[in-house]
Amino acid sequence: MVAKKPRVVIVGAGVAGLAAAQRLCGAGGDRFDVTVVEAGARAGGRVLTSEFAGHRVEMGATWVQGIVGSPVYALARDAGALDPDPEDDGGLVPYERMDGFPDRVLTVAEGGAVVDADLVAKPVEDLYRGRSRRAVGHADLGQLPAAPAYQRRNTRRRWRRVEPRRAQSRTDTSADDLGDLDLAAEREYRDFPGDHVTIPGGYYRVVDRLVAALPPGTVRLGLQLRRLEWGRTPVRLHFAYGDAPALEADHVIVTVSLGVLKTSCLGNGKQDAAGAIAFDPPLPQFKREAVARLGFGVVDKLFMEVEAMEGDEGEPPVDFPFLHMAFRAHHVSEAPWWMRGTESICPVHGGSRVALAWFAGREAEHLESLPDDEVVRGVHATLDAFLPSSRWRVKRVKRSAWATDPLFLGSYSYVAVGSSGEDLDTMAEPLPRAEDDGGGHDERPLRVLFGGEATHRAHYSTTHAAYLSGVREADRLLQYYSR
Ligand SMILES: Cc1cc2nc3c(=O)[nH]c(=O)nc-3n(C[C@H](O)[C@H](O)[C@H](O)COP(=O)(O)OP(=O)(O)OC[C@H]3O[C@@H](n4cnc5c(N)ncnc54)[C@H](O)[C@@H]3O)c2cc1C
Repeated sequence: MVAKKPRVVIVGAGVAGLAAAQRLCGAGGDRFDVTVVEAGARAGGRVLTSEFAGHRVEMGATWVQGIVGSPVYALARDAGALDPDPEDDGGLVPYERMDGFPDRVLTVAEGGAVVDADLVAKPVEDLYRGRSRRAVGHADLGQLPAAPAYQRRNTRRRWRRVEPRRAQSRTDTSADDLGDLDLAAEREYRDFPGDHVTIPGGYYRVVDRLVAALPPGTVRLGLQLRRLEWGRTPVRLHFAYGDAPALEADHVIVTVSLGVLKTSCLGNGKQDAAGAIAFDPPLPQFKREAVARLGFGVVDKLFMEVEAMEGDEGEPPVDFPFLHMAFRAHHVSEAPWWMRGTESICPVHGGSRVALAWFAGREAEHLESLPDDEVVRGVHATLDAFLPSSRWRVKRVKRSAWATDPLFLGSYSYVAVGSSGEDLDTMAEPLPRAEDDGGGHDERPLRVLFGGEATHRAHYSTTHAAYLSGVREADRLLQYYSR
């Protein structure tokens, strides 16, 4: 008689879910019966590569945050995505920051006065450049001088750019209000050492690499988990659409975003959102409290195809500048409030006619609610305030909408005031806890395991956190069955 294989269902085909599946199917050999159920019509989750105006654009994950030892960098390299052949790639060579960051930016005050960035920003830049150089490649980042954690993280991530700024820290951390960041806990955050790079062939190649390593049919798209009965083994998974039969599993690895978990556990009026899961029985209090305390913010990207109109002063400008905007506290232009938290509009690479602005927090959420023509009007009012004589115009826009998307309900996690790194560990804790079942520690049945970026204490908010969390949960099962 052939022994029955343990059935493992992984919920979510983002980087975490795919990494868990790859590990179970790889290191586990043929020992597990693995299925990945994904509510959406594609794998990748918050990795979403798209095209716009002849460019490859990343709507979600953009950077590999430190290349030394990064599993995501290794996947991109092994997939040939660091040096893609344009012939095989639909001719799409241009990609975000393919030329790194320009040495000089055009810093302009609202109203159009060009500011001498050397006078204002250079000393600060030098200070942080030095500090971050020490951070990059440093074996024990905890020994660095104690700067506010969000700044350190900021400098590690963006040290080639000019001085650390509030808007950048908001997009780096996803916190709407920087006062909501627990700085002590954020100090535990780590990037990998080395450069931060974008992926020429597209971040999706990392996802494709993971999927390709799985047996055909492992990933099942369009299956949205609606109810998870986890009170006894086997665990039963019920799906949203009537004709999808329930599945039974010995173990379920949940990798949905913290935004989806918040809605699933805490309500907040969005329980009917497509991704929300009814846990039956409800998740225990310790888990719900960690879900509630941790922060999950919104970051969006707005891509704009720009063209220069001929002005009164003759020839239009050649290149769109790397524009750094210094808004005044007292508004002196028609730039709308939702543009005022954004400090730069820059070409995705030198000479490109595709410009990019990042948004965070309430401005990002508002941006998601606007029709395209209103977005274009708001950008025009802003460009008129900063480049009054250049007459750049936006032909069309493309933007992300991570807060509105019911399968994500936000962008990435942060440690909010009132939470701590321990909450990230709690997020990762499998269920039931031994005492819930009345069994001894060794009897813990590992019915529901948790992966995803918001379950990694040191690397949360990144793709490598997602990857490492998936591997961690797969290893938990491998270890369980090797006892
Ligand atoms: C704008 C933006 C920029 C970013 N930039 C970077 C960056 O530069 N560098 C970096 O490292 N990281 C970046 N990130 C973060 C990174 O993308 C994420 O941390 C990572 O991709 C998360 O992967 P995950 O597998 O944990 O979750 P997800 O990618 O969210 O995967 C979870 C999956 O679960 C699915 N799902 C949801 N509900 C259900 C359900 N009920 N049933 C079945 N399936 C369900 C979802 O559709 C999704 O596919 C960025 C993210 C955003 C949004």
